[in-house]
Amino acid sequence: MTASNKPPKSALQPATQLIHGHRDPAKSAGFINMPPYRGSTVLFPTLDKIISRDQPYTYGRRGNPTTVELEQALCSLEGGDRTILTANGFQAVTTAILAFVQAGDDILMTDSVYQPTRAFCDKILPRFGVSTTYYDPTIGAGIAGLLKPNTRLVFTESPGSQTFEMQDIPAIAAAAQARGVWVLMDNTWASPLYYQPLRHGVDVSIQALTKYVVGHSDALLGAITGNARATPHLIAAKENLGICPGSEETWLALRGLRTLDVRLARHHASGMAMAQWLETQAAVAKVIHPALPSHPGHALWKRDFCGASGLFSIVLNPVSRAQLAAMLDHLHLFGMGYSWGGFESLIIPFDPKPYRTTTQWHEPGPALRLHIGLESVADLKADLSAGFARLALTG
Ligand SMILES: *Cc1c(COP(=O)(O)O)cnc(C)c1O
Repeated sequence: MTASNKPPKSALQPATQLIHGHRDPAKSAGFINMPPYRGSTVLFPTLDKIISRDQPYTYGRRGNPTTVELEQALCSLEGGDRTILTANGFQAVTTAILAFVQAGDDILMTDSVYQPTRAFCDKILPRFGVSTTYYDPTIGAGIAGLLKPNTRLVFTESPGSQTFEMQDIPAIAAAAQARGVWVLMDNTWASPLYYQPLRHGVDVSIQALTKYVVGHSDALLGAITGNARATPHLIAAKENLGICPGSEETWLALRGLRTLDVRLARHHASGMAMAQWLETQAAVAKVIHPALPSHPGHALWKRDFCGASGLFSIVLNPVSRAQLAAMLDHLHLFGMGYSWGGFESLIIPFDPKPYRTTTQWHEPGPALRLHIGLESVADLKADLSAGFARLALTG
């Protein structure tokens, strides 16, 4: 495999690219979909070939036709130079960070980052002499004031996990790059369909494909896409850490990718309808959704993003634990469970107070994160309405 898997520039719109991009039925006996290639050993025909390793595939861990098809399809959506697949989204985060840091470095990390990313920075990196400084996600160009001589990378995630702060990514990227500092972004919320980090100055875009790309809650997978400057670092990390995705999961992600455009459009529309309706509900103190004009980061979302996914949060007016349980324990359509991006609606409680360090969470009532799935909005409203009624009835 060559170092870069940058696909030829496509004149097609993203919706069409998703359907036709990098799919070659001629290579799979005319069948529309390539089968999942499974395997470890790849044979070399001659001594010369095994010494030079001069053939497209050399060993299962280093890639196969199925992984290359997904890498290329994602790489062209992101406008990147090279995409690397990982076993899950979190591994994409840790691999991308490890690709750039060395002992003595400091990382600037957004305070609203996905919590396991924070745990990696706090629990693993210090053992290798790498420290982390958390910054206010809304800092924008002010990030320049935090850059130190040993700052190696700025990690961004927009909107933030659970609390959905919007970041001024182009301003952060400009300030960091003026000082030769790498900029990484966890772009899982929008997917490369609604936000392309590399086109806004980011060096490395990270995706939990587990969410919208797989889209059916039936597999874990991650992806890292970098620009040409990042490619050698990402390849070295992949090769030397032994990073490789499962074949079945890769195939499921390819299958999900083909319908990403229609699914996301529905998540966007239903998410907006639910968010607007929730703003009118007496039990709800606040709806935190970047595509609502009431969100403090709405202008950034409108300027930079092409759409919103189905994930946002609400804060309820203060209630007792028993009242909250009466609401959540008897929902019929909203399931309580982690992850999101599948076809079904989900709801989880969260509390950022214990782990935030640079910013504070002051909301007095309980916070809930909602994933709006592909069900009918009328049915979802009825499910939550009944929940709000139980909450009001319980003492
Ligand atoms: C879910 C998630 C991840 C991790 O993905 P997994 O596939 O579950 O490991 C990383 N970042 C964000 C923002 C996520 O929501």
